[in-house]
Amino acid sequence: MSTFKEMDPEVTWRLIEGHEDILAPALKAREELYSRFSCPRCRCKLLKEFDPRTCFSGDEVLPKALLCCPSCSYTIDPHTNIVVRFGDASKIPVESSPLILFDQHE
Ligand SMILES: [Zn+2]
Repeated sequence: MSTFKEMDPEVTWRLIEGHEDILAPALKAREELYSRFSCPRCRCKLLKEFDPRTCFSGDEVLPKALLCCPSCSYTIDPHTNIVVRFGDASKIPVESSPLILFDQHE
């Protein structure tokens, strides 16, 4: 059961009509920042994770996300470059690990 109740779209539109759109440029800049990060171990794209204890701060108009690797759980705060979790290499599926193949007939 959700406690979130969405506002009437008509009422919402009347409230924001005529005001400058500050969310769209902020969102574009935020997504560009997040796209620069990848997992240093797996090299895969990191997923956004919102921690309610830290996602809202100061005068930011958008919540701040942590970026988490879906394979090894490496997690970084892209706003401070602080590594929150180093992750666990044992969580990486074996098939995604690099293999070195040797020719046995040499
Ligand atoms: Zn990873």
